Amino acid sequence: MNYKFTKDFAIQTDASDALNSYRDKFVFPEHLGEKALYFTGNSLGLMPKKVKEYLNEELEDWGKFGVEGHFESRRPWYSYHENFTKMMAEVVGAKENEVVLMNGLTTNLHLMMISFYQPTSSRYKILCEKKAFPSDQYMLETQIKHHGLDIADTLIEVGPREGEETIREEDILEAIENNKDELALVFMGGVNYYTGQLFDMKSITECAHKYEITVGFDLAHGAGNVLLNLHDWKVDFACWCTYKYLNSGPGSVSGVYIHESHTSNTELNRFGGWWGHDKETRFLMEPGFNPMPTAEGWQLSNAPIFSMTPLLASLELFSQAGIKALHHKGQLLSGYLEFMVDEINIDLTEKLEIITPREKSKRGCQISIVAHGRGKELFDKLTEKGVIADWRQPNVIRMAPVPLYNSFEDIYNFGVILKDSLK
Ligand SMILES: *Cc1c(COP(=O)(O)O)cnc(C)c1O
Repeated sequence: MNYKFTKDFAIQTDASDALNSYRDKFVFPEHLGEKALYFTGNSLGLMPKKVKEYLNEELEDWGKFGVEGHFESRRPWYSYHENFTKMMAEVVGAKENEVVLMNGLTTNLHLMMISFYQPTSSRYKILCEKKAFPSDQYMLETQIKHHGLDIADTLIEVGPREGEETIREEDILEAIENNKDELALVFMGGVNYYTGQLFDMKSITECAHKYEITVGFDLAHGAGNVLLNLHDWKVDFACWCTYKYLNSGPGSVSGVYIHESHTSNTELNRFGGWWGHDKETRFLMEPGFNPMPTAEGWQLSNAPIFSMTPLLASLELFSQAGIKALHHKGQLLSGYLEFMVDEINIDLTEKLEIITPREKSKRGCQISIVAHGRGKELFDKLTEKGVIADWRQPNVIRMAPVPLYNSFEDIYNFGVILKDSLK
């Protein structure tokens, strides 16, 4: 796309964008009576307008049916999680028997570790990216302790090289090769939350599988953002939250993917609960855990209806728009943002720096900008002018132009405000 830093360009591009109408299906926070410039869909996605209607339906049905709602309501609660399976599987490139929605993300990571991290005296190490999201670090640290192992000896962290911001893929593959006999698990973010770097999950999985090392990804920043083919890539397991790019609302349920080669393996260690038990015999309430032969076999509790409902409204939009078209637009939007920063840099002595990879194949829609020499006052100026972005100490602005609801005009307006704020 031949970008221009003009309002005309932005307006015309929006007008010819087939996905532009989806913007009207979301509720925006306001600034001085106008839609705010919302770029934090990577932290909390906006609310689809349909959410209110769908939630009201569940409240109505609860009132109307009481306990009978489990079977009598318009979307029976007994099998409620099944409403999401097909749409969720499409977004992450999985088969329907490989996905389920349940619990919170960190909880699910712990559950996956119970099944997929079985250290032995010779094979016990875990490879992960340096500066992983804190919750993932704490999860790994406490799992390692749980097995009575030493963290320094068990955890291998691959970071960027001296003076670089992103991690070289060859360094990850090399670390796998160098530790191939001792690694039990490769677990990392598919898209790094800080830099927005997208890893080649297919190559990483292929490399690890050569040595029978299990591979799992945290896709909190991947699901609904980048193109995923978890089944074909043969990833063993993955988990993601749904309140970021998937717009399900604060603290909503997490998604889990387990490759079908594992789902019917009853030998796998796992923590069981009645909702993972065979659906046909669940209410016989008999002893002996007999898990469903799908990802559903990892469910513990009955579904939290009110926290899942918003996801239905959002996934319907993903399903209509199509993840491929959304991803394509996301790339155009983040490309425009990148262009904008480069244009503004021309007149700056102290340049802004983009730490997200410049290659489109190595990122989703997030762009992380280092505002060298400028402190929080720059960010506060942006906020004052109606920009909602994410500030990380000491000087990083993370921005996610989300294809479902952000426009080219949003980015143009941001560019004008940024340029003005740097004066
Ligand atoms: C957002 C995020 C989380 C959040 O975990 P919750 O259990 O949903 O609170 C965890 N890991 C990563 C990589 C994240 O980006």
